[in-house]
Amino acid sequence: MFDAVPDMAAKRAELSGHALAFRDAATGRDWSFREVDAAANGMAAALRERGLVEGDRLASICLNGTAFFVLLLACQKAGLILCPLNWRQPPAELTETLEPVSPRLILHDAGFAEPAAEVARQLGIPALSLDDDDLRREGTAGSVGMIPADRPWYLLFTSGTTGRPKAVIQTARMAWANAVNIGQAIHLTPADRSVNFLPVFHTAGINLYTLPVFLTGGSSTVLPKFEAAEVLELLRTGAITQFFGVPAIYQAFSLSDEVERIDWTAVRCGCGGAPLPEPLIRFFAERGARVLNGFGMTETGPTVFLMDEGHAEAKIGSVGRPQMLTECRLDGVPDGEPGEGEILLRGPNITPGYYGNPEATEQAFAPGGWLKSGDVGQRDADGFVRIVDRIKDMYISGGENVYPAEVERVLVEHPAVLEAAVIGIPDEKWGETGAAFLIPRPGETIEPEPLRQWCRARLAAYKIPARVEVVEDFPRTAAGKVRKPDLRARIA
Ligand code: ATP
Repeated sequence: MFDAVPDMAAKRAELSGHALAFRDAATGRDWSFREVDAAANGMAAALRERGLVEGDRLASICLNGTAFFVLLLACQKAGLILCPLNWRQPPAELTETLEPVSPRLILHDAGFAEPAAEVARQLGIPALSLDDDDLRREGTAGSVGMIPADRPWYLLFTSGTTGRPKAVIQTARMAWANAVNIGQAIHLTPADRSVNFLPVFHTAGINLYTLPVFLTGGSSTVLPKFEAAEVLELLRTGAITQFFGVPAIYQAFSLSDEVERIDWTAVRCGCGGAPLPEPLIRFFAERGARVLNGFGMTETGPTVFLMDEGHAEAKIGSVGRPQMLTECRLDGVPDGEPGEGEILLRGPNITPGYYGNPEATEQAFAPGGWLKSGDVGQRDADGFVRIVDRIKDMYISGGENVYPAEVERVLVEHPAVLEAAVIGIPDEKWGETGAAFLIPRPGETIEPEPLRQWCRARLAAYKIPARVEVVEDFPRTAAGKVRKPDLRARIA
């Protein structure tokens, strides 16, 4: 695909400058594409005047807002590499995360002045408020220049569900390829209105669907962060046509009465990032919503697999087929044939690697430039793929492989169980056995014996968790994923 791509903000300003780009919920301000471009030009100039040059890194710590997207687009213009930080982490952890990428500046919004100052002190760099007049100077809309498609644009730290987060390089090529993958699949048009609330330090907060909608000429309402009531209100009033949530968000919605007051046929719903329980898909289907499951990774821009509406029922439980620009192979399975193997991915939406970490980059790719996803996929005869589990989460009980995701699927079908997380734990007799952490449905009690019977009817004996713990919630990442290493530590 292309070696150079247009400056996104400038191109959009040229094509539909007066159309609405962002509705900023915190400030109540509406931004046209022209205003976004002008502000990004102003910010890019201010950053250059501070001595930042192409390839320099700068960090940001802020809630979601138009200021973040202006900064992101300014970095693309100036060739700077933005490192959005997870504001849930304490300064010491942020400093540790940033050290290997040695940023020259840290930017923050009004709420994060203190941690930003602390990280800046520890790293010996300046901190600057995104509200600084100099950064917010009135820029003018510029002419459209071209950007090297593969130039690192921003770095995203993976959610760290399997270990220390890695700095995944994101490029403009990846963003355009993701916009094609997702835009084609969900038929984005300039009439689309989306909502942004997933944190901008995760790929979903930037790329599902905010940048694809921006590139298409549609608009996004930007909320500082996820508040179920606010998002449900936008859905209820028909303010949005496109919605993306992680499974934890659909789960939260399913427990709210508000869900019954929404015309779900008026909004297209996507989901991904973690296993989506089938009872939840059916819950929303009964209310007219087709929640289309998809698979992606920080390393893949993220959209790779997506379910299509026509197969949502017949292929329930699958994440669909690889989208427009992405090739997929299953390790050890002949191309196009059914089978099970590690998902290998190639295409313009795939990262060139981890910033400043050639060893990790080398390990992540198989010969031929295939990214090793670390997930096992199962392809059926029609090419639909089901995510079996992460290779790292699999455990071996009495010599048999157990994929926790399969056990979790059976557990969440039980009427008393809302959510389930299963891990392998050491066992004297079997080597390893399963431990299940369960969140009960409101008002329900989980009784061990009936649950065991439920499992016995549906799972081979070696897959039935030997230990069951009822909990109120799981340790989770900011994207709502279960932190299994924390569960393992709890057992240890
Ligand atoms: P780390 O690499 O630091 O452990 P992470 O892999 O969780 O973090 P992400 O890039 O946010 O970081 O997540 C990608 C992973 O999420 C995939 O590799 C896969 O395991 C999981 N995933 C994504 N979508 C789905 C889905 N629809 N069903 C099941 N799992 C999914």
